[in-house]
Formats: sequence, C-alpha cells, structure tokens
Amino acid sequence: MKTKNEELLNRTVELALESLERLPERPVAHSVKFAELLEQMGGELPAEGEDALQVIEHLVKNAERGLVATPGPRYFGFVIGGVLPASLAADWLTSAWDQNAGAFVLSPAASALEEIIRQWVISLLGLSPDLSMGIVTGGTMANFTGLAAGRHALLKRAGWDVESDGLFGAPSLPVVTSDESHITVFASLQMLGLGRERVVRVATDEQGRMRPDALREVLDRINSPALVCAQAGNVNTGSFDPLQEIIPLVRQNGGWLHVDGAFGGWAAASTPHRYLLAAVEQADSFTVDCHKWLNVPYDAGLVFVRDRAAHYTAMTLSAAYYIAGPDDVRENHNWSPEASRRARCFSIYAALRALGRNGIDEIVAHCCRLARRLAEALAQDPQVQILNEVVINQVMVRFVPRDGADADAFTAAVMQRVQEEGTCWAGGTTWQGKHAMRVSVSNWSTTESDIDRSVTAILDCLHAMS
Ligand SMILES: *Cc1c(COP(=O)(O)O)cnc(C)c1O
Repeated sequence: MKTKNEELLNRTVELALESLERLPERPVAHSVKFAELLEQMGGELPAEGEDALQVIEHLVKNAERGLVATPGPRYFGFVIGGVLPASLAADWLTSAWDQNAGAFVLSPAASALEEIIRQWVISLLGLSPDLSMGIVTGGTMANFTGLAAGRHALLKRAGWDVESDGLFGAPSLPVVTSDESHITVFASLQMLGLGRERVVRVATDEQGRMRPDALREVLDRINSPALVCAQAGNVNTGSFDPLQEIIPLVRQNGGWLHVDGAFGGWAAASTPHRYLLAAVEQADSFTVDCHKWLNVPYDAGLVFVRDRAAHYTAMTLSAAYYIAGPDDVRENHNWSPEASRRARCFSIYAALRALGRNGIDEIVAHCCRLARRLAEALAQDPQVQILNEVVINQVMVRFVPRDGADADAFTAAVMQRVQEEGTCWAGGTTWQGKHAMRVSVSNWSTTESDIDRSVTAILDCLHAMS
C-alpha cells in the first residue's frame, strides 16, 4: 500500500515530467490577464484545509497558463539560462532535505559543498585560489555583497568602522560606475547607503565598454580611493570592460574594483573566450550568476572577494573580528547577507559535476556559436541590422521598414508580432538611442534547429509587416 505522501509526491513527479515534456514545443509565452489568474487561483482563503493532492492538481491546472517557457530552448529574452537535469534533480532533493544552509551545525553537507564550489569555480574561472565566496540569490545580491565588502575596506582604511557606526558622519566614499553598469549595481548602491545618483559615471565606447582614458580622468579628478564598478558582459552587447587596462588605474588610485560578471563571467571557463576576462583574477570582488549561463534553477549566484576579512566583516552576524583557524569549518552565513537560507549549493554542485570543466566550456562556446548563427542568418535580410559585435551570446536586432518610416516603431511592431507568434521570444531594448530586439542565447538545450526555426519565424513576421 502506498502512503498518501508517496501518492502525492509520485503524482507531482508525473506532473512535473509532463510539463517538461511539453516545454520545447509549447508556445513560449501565453497571453493571459493578471486579473484572470487572480480570479482562478484566489478568492477567500479557505477556512478548512484541502487535500494536498487536490491542491497540487488545482495548482498545476491553473498556474500553467501563467507560466512562461523561460527554461525552453527558444526563449531568448533577458539572460535567462535553463535547467540542467542533474541540477533540477538536486533542487528537488534540496526541498525534500529541507536543510538550513546557514550554519555547519544545521547542515555539515551544505558547509562542505559551499567550500567545494568555492574551490571548483575558482579553478574553473582561473581566479586566485584564496578568494572568499558567498552563495546568494543572484546577481543583485552578489553585487550588493561585493560592494558591501568594498565599502568596508575603503572606509576602514579611512579610519571608519562602517558596520558599527553606519554612514552618518563617515568620510566620503567616492563611487565610480560606467554609463553601462547594470541597474542592479545602482540598486545595490542604493541599499548600501552609497546612493544611486551620487556616483560618477564613466563614458563607454560604441560597444558599451568602459573607456580607460575616461576612467583615468575621473580617478585623477577624484584623487582619493574609489569604489569602482566594472562589468564582464554587457546585457545588450555582451561586451567586456577592458579589465587589464582598468586594474592598474584602480590600483594607482588605491581603490576597490568590483566586477559584475553575472552571465559574462562564465566566459572565463571557455578557452576561446577567456581572453575577454584577462586580469579578472585581480579584481577585488567578482560575481557570477548560476541561474543564468550555468543553467541552475532559480535562485543562485556567487560572489568572490580578495580581502576575506572585508567580506567576512561586512556580512557576519557576530560582529566578531575575523580570525580563521586551520581547522575552522565553513560557516556559510558569514559570507552572505542571510542567516537561514535554502541550500542552493546542492543544485550548483550537481550542475558543475554533471558538466565538468569541458561541459561548461562547451555550453558557453555552443551558445556563442548559436548566437553568431542567428545573427549571420538574420543579417542576410536587407531589412535587418545587427547593432553589436557578437562577441559572446547577445545579439541586438533592428528592423528597417522599406518605406523609410520610423525604424523604432517598426522594430517594436515586428518584435511584438514575433512574441505573439510564439515560436520564440525576445525582448526589447534601447541601444544608443535606437530601439532593438535583444536576443540572448544561454540555454544548454537550444539546438541549431531551434535557431533556424526562430530565424524563419522572425523573418516571416518581418515580411508580413513590410
Ligand atoms: C542579470 C544580471 C544582474 C542581476 O542578476 P539577478 O540574478 O537578476 O539578480 C546583474 N548584472 C548583470 C550584468 C546581469 O546580466
């Protein structure tokens, strides 16, 4: 006799598998109204509880229309990634095991796996072996944590203990970003009391890369140690700030270099792309998102910091000074903003192990090849312009009307048609004043045939409009 629990979980596996089976061929997005979903799934909270199996059946039946096929092979919006089977399986176990990954005493396995992930990703990306690492929810909190460590280190050098005394009365801390820094860098600065508007922005080149000559001018003018935010992987062009030129400038300034590598950071794992991140091992803090190009389910990101003590002091709950003993176990909560948290390490570990060094290199190289394939195929059409150098996996596409009408409006209209048609999905962006459709190829399961089908669908939409 099966227990009720077994029946529930087996049925759930069946439903999950059905959903995964439908994923590659279902329309990428459903058009659905928010109010409809509220009506179907909401109403009064029932006074009496319902049978668990019934709850799950109801959830699957009603939520389905509000699910987007973001883990599917032809979802090219934002930078989304997908889900590797091993990582999904480990994620199921994460909930079944229900470990609190915050402390060794609560989950020795989670402490050990976080340490193993630290070592493996450092080796994979060619970072410096003694970096500290925190596992966080994603790129935003990775930026937050890296910048918090930088805030600590620079203010400590200026004789100020920001964790104890806060920012009121603190010495000024100059912050430098590029014109193209990701919005979550500004969100992090806003949460850290450093202000999103008081930053000095450095001009970028035509691919969105920070210009070293402009940075030099800014740092000369500031003339005191600054928190400098660079990036490896621009969300629009995929371009990389020239770290090799930026690092000596920040060193000379005595500042802290934070590098946001949310998706582009993984390019360091790929032999043909590694040059794009030359010198990244010298950054003071560095981030990568696991739920993007590593294809781990949401949510998981990593932050690495050179100055372990700064990282520890900025994050620890204990307010005790950092002294590492040789026999110390890893206390995960010392390296990220949360105390209790989900054991994200299981699915990250499973992804790393299932892919291996070569598999990760290949995911990156594969996605880059597919992005180039798409760009080259679309560019054959005289009404298509590719706005960026396709250095990695990001492509910006602009559509030009035959009659000389407004290309911004035309691009938006073609894109909307592509989205409604449902073969693939890509979102819009504005690049240097021009409207464009942005394609990001970051899913392990996307094939050449997915790219070719998407190109055909996009060109059909274009031709139907012109
Ligand atoms: C996605 C992204 C982020 C934010 O990451 P989340 O995981 O969404 O919090 C930050 N920087 C860059 C460059 C990104 O692409």
